[in-house]
Amino acid sequence: MSETHRRVLLAKPRGYCAGVDRAVQAVEIALTRFGAPVYVRKQIVHNTHVVNELEKRGAVFVEDTEEVPEGGVILFSAHGIAPEVRKAAEERGLRAIDATCPLVTKVHNEARRFAAGDYDILLIGHEGHEEVIGTTGEAPDRVTLVDGPESAAGVEVRDPAKVVWLSQTTLSVDETVQTVGALRERFPQLIDPPSDDICYATQNRQAAVKVIARDADVVIVVGSPNSSNSVRLVEVAKEAGAGAAYLVDDAGEVDDRWLEGAATVGVTSGASVPEELVAGVLGKLAALGFEDVEEVEAVKERMVFQLPRELRSPR
Ligand code: SF4
Repeated sequence: MSETHRRVLLAKPRGYCAGVDRAVQAVEIALTRFGAPVYVRKQIVHNTHVVNELEKRGAVFVEDTEEVPEGGVILFSAHGIAPEVRKAAEERGLRAIDATCPLVTKVHNEARRFAAGDYDILLIGHEGHEEVIGTTGEAPDRVTLVDGPESAAGVEVRDPAKVVWLSQTTLSVDETVQTVGALRERFPQLIDPPSDDICYATQNRQAAVKVIARDADVVIVVGSPNSSNSVRLVEVAKEAGAGAAYLVDDAGEVDDRWLEGAATVGVTSGASVPEELVAGVLGKLAALGFEDVEEVEAVKERMVFQLPRELRSPR
């Protein structure tokens, strides 16, 4: 009897997006330039390992600016902040470094612009997510949160002719299309955002996981449970035909029983996951007989962002 050929399909792109790379570098440079401690409001990016590593090097993660001593250095995370947070930091005399991803800032700018034009803004996103809180804070009187297609039925607006939808950057592309469809049935004059709010990294990682999922018995997504884009990858993998899909923070969470009877395992990772964690999962799979790794590149990715203004070297 011939043995089953076990293989891994490794999705590309995976791992750090340009916004996460910039935010992590910002903390590292701030630690070198100003010395420990530097304070970071919320998790700089949604990954347990990244946060733990930065903590070891002297970053102190806080929930609010009030926890930072006057004159301290504070970094704002990649997910963005409401204007009142920036103001509170100024009032306390903190030295602020804004690591908000430029693609989140783009959505903030859209929210401000449409609010100034007196539009009602339907923000598609997940309730309680930091990015949604930050974007809503730009125009709290004009923004209504729409958390998925089922929420569309209950939305109220002032004038159906002046309504625009915006979104969180890390949503499922397919589910967002459904939500917009449900909103447009209610408000046919609904205006689209000037350009995609779901960011390139989220879209590319979902496109890549779809390619591997259709041939995979099991898909393993490396990422933390509070990482929106990682959780979406699990959902997208299942919808695209994977036999099963699981989210793991690292190799230690891979359960051998998931792989019983599997011939093809798909592997990918969220936009805030260091490559060494993926390497750890591949190592575990190799030990279980999945030594043959085939990389499947769905989209080429070359995006790079400049460091936050406050950290760019003087000429
Ligand atoms: Fe920016 Fe997208 Fe990365 Fe979020 S996932 S930090 S929006 S590039």
